[in-house]
Amino acid sequence: MKYISVLGSTGSIGTQTLDVVRKNNDLKVAALSAGSNVKLLAEQIREFRPLLACVGSDELAEELKLLTKDCFVRIVSGMEGLIEAAVIKEAQIVVTAIVGMIGIRPTIAAIRAGKDIALANKETLVTAGHIIMPLASEYRVKILPVDSEHSAIFQSLNGEPRAKIEKILLTASGGPFRGRTTEQMKAVKVEDALKHPNWAMGRKITIDSATMVNKGLEVMEARWLFDVELSDICVIVHPQSVIHSMVQFVDGGIIAQLGMPDMRLPIQYALYYPDRRFLDSKRLDFFALQSMTFEKPDLENFKGLALAYQAAERGGNIPTAFNAANEKAVALFLDGKIGFLQIPQLIERAMEETNYIENPSVEEILATERSVYELIESRWE
Ligand code: NDP
Repeated sequence: MKYISVLGSTGSIGTQTLDVVRKNNDLKVAALSAGSNVKLLAEQIREFRPLLACVGSDELAEELKLLTKDCFVRIVSGMEGLIEAAVIKEAQIVVTAIVGMIGIRPTIAAIRAGKDIALANKETLVTAGHIIMPLASEYRVKILPVDSEHSAIFQSLNGEPRAKIEKILLTASGGPFRGRTTEQMKAVKVEDALKHPNWAMGRKITIDSATMVNKGLEVMEARWLFDVELSDICVIVHPQSVIHSMVQFVDGGIIAQLGMPDMRLPIQYALYYPDRRFLDSKRLDFFALQSMTFEKPDLENFKGLALAYQAAERGGNIPTAFNAANEKAVALFLDGKIGFLQIPQLIERAMEETNYIENPSVEEILATERSVYELIESRWE
């Protein structure tokens, strides 16, 4: 029996993780957490019977207590509660399916408590990879990627040592606006940006896919997960999203992982690694697919990706500035307060105005996040 803790259980990755649990009777839930969706969290508590559940605030915790008063569950709230959910004694694996930099502290706490991490929350590695990865090796815990591309790389590597990697070939769908010029993206609406061609995901990551900021975040994530140079990560636009990513080895051989887009595969792979289990997903039909195509990414019209490369090259707290500005800008875009093309503009400005710190501590990362938020709020809210 394997016990897991799911941070962000009400979101896209969280609910798919629980679907994997539902279909495997040797997985049990020790803790669940959500931000504000107490109604769904209460339903999840009834179905999965965790020992602990966490919500965003004390008021929401009171609401949840009322909804679950006949259940045997301890209800906690806020960052302290999230950390409790991350370190709960019974769990062996913590699924970090929370969105944003709020994931940093609980991830660190879980590693210190000796838990393996099934990592979906890429913002944690983007901003604090220099802290998380050495800590994981110090505590001998595994960081198991959930992001489909990183899971594909992990599956393709299948235990090959770092020295045998020549290149990581990171595929990208190109998002709903692939092929458009900046001029053609001036007037895009929120509804258009939320229509991802291949994947159904949370709102924030769907907008990140439309701007290609998501691919930039994934480049930074891959760098930390697989300990490779930026120049050894090559982004390939592959609109069909059938090849989830590949590894090119020193002998020129390339190993890829392919399949239908279904996040339950990487989630399940992370939970059972190194075992593979049956999954009731659609199978890839090569005859129906007929062809796969590949393109170079368009860094000129998709400034978000170009800026991500700059942030990664500069390092230190600049990826934090990049990520924090993007989080705020995406929220403003979703609220209809800024246009689509202003997202990369706000990111660029935040990167320019951030005082560089070479090797930031968690406190300095969070302070950078705050000052970027203030910079953007002073102008837009
Ligand atoms: P969602 O927005 O669908 O879900 C986010 C989860 O985090 C929800 O449970 C939400 O709770 C919770 N949450 C949000 N804000 C807070 C907060 N302040 N305090 C506590 N909990 C909070 O996101 P996704 O599932 O799409 O993404 C999660 C992570 O996984 C992201 O880092 C994303 O980049 C990554 N990822 C997602 C993929 C996908 O297919 N969706 C693919 C690869 C990576 P509530 O519902 O109550 O708001």
